[in-house]
Amino acid sequence: MSYEANVRRVTPYVPGEQPKEKNIIKLNTNENPYPPAPGWREIVNTIDEDAFRKYPDPLITDLTHAIAAYHKVDIDKVFVGIGSDDVLATAILTLFNSEKPVIFPDITYSFYDVWADVFRIPYKTIPLDENFRIKAEDYNIPNGGIVIANPNAPTGILESVDFIEGIIKANPDSAVIVDEAYIDFGGESCLPLIDKYENLLVVRTFSKSRCMAGLRIGYAIGNVKMIKFISDVKFSINSYTLNTPTIALGLASLRDNEYFEECCQRVIATRERAEEQLIKLGFTSTNSYANFLFVSHKEKKAEYIFEELKKRKIYVRYFKKPRIDNYLRISIGTDDEMEKLVEALKEIV
Ligand code: PMP
Repeated sequence: MSYEANVRRVTPYVPGEQPKEKNIIKLNTNENPYPPAPGWREIVNTIDEDAFRKYPDPLITDLTHAIAAYHKVDIDKVFVGIGSDDVLATAILTLFNSEKPVIFPDITYSFYDVWADVFRIPYKTIPLDENFRIKAEDYNIPNGGIVIANPNAPTGILESVDFIEGIIKANPDSAVIVDEAYIDFGGESCLPLIDKYENLLVVRTFSKSRCMAGLRIGYAIGNVKMIKFISDVKFSINSYTLNTPTIALGLASLRDNEYFEECCQRVIATRERAEEQLIKLGFTSTNSYANFLFVSHKEKKAEYIFEELKKRKIYVRYFKKPRIDNYLRISIGTDDEMEKLVEALKEIV
């Protein structure tokens, strides 16, 4: 006999490597290569001891207001959490409490199945077609909820708002979570649909387009009732999620819209240039709308290229998984970093 029989066992999600080494080119976890909006330094200098001594605002009022104003929605339609991972986990725990399986694509963000497992939520993956596109009709089955990343990860493929709307409309008895972690890099958001469909939740993050992965800010927007359901679960687990300095730094980012837009445009321009260069080297690419490319080489195996790049201190992401084990996901770095990547690839392939 042992306590172990009572333990909730899970196979955890494995995040991309965060090597301690300096002088590497890190294109493996979709971080933004640019610094956050310059206002951050002033904020850091003005943080006083109260920010550490006292508990933070459990309602995250100021940042919730600022996000609501940015998206022109009411504040009670916004839920803020510790990165979109926390927001997604809380939303999944709240909204998917059915005996029927939750459904999502077979190739997508590999945290969805981990959350379903840890929360003991039944789920079923729905194969994407041979071009990694969603087949909408496959989502017309009994289900306990739906999660769609748009653009998808790790493919970067974007579906149109009309297409996603079709799935939301066909599933009025299921909550549909649309994970828009990468939407700011050229995609069109499903946010305008939140007033039309009570079953829709759109999830966003400051980690990619706002250059703040280290701070951990994510949020969701949905109708008032749905946000209240999610908030009730949050307050049943942890009242104090975001800390005071993080809240202040998030506000600084939202104040500088010009910088935000410029950053997104730079990433998009670099993505387009890098994609062209990789195609010239014999890669095929998925027309990504995210801050990464998803590529496969016509001759050289992805795992080999991944290892060779690592020897040259260039880190990209390789998933040893069915259907995508000959692809590399390459985050968009600065122009200089992408130039070095291309030079290394010229040697390797
Ligand atoms: N959704 C998708 C599709 C992602 O790729 C990521 C990044 N790993 C996240 C959500 C979570 O990002 P964060 O917790 O940093 O907001």
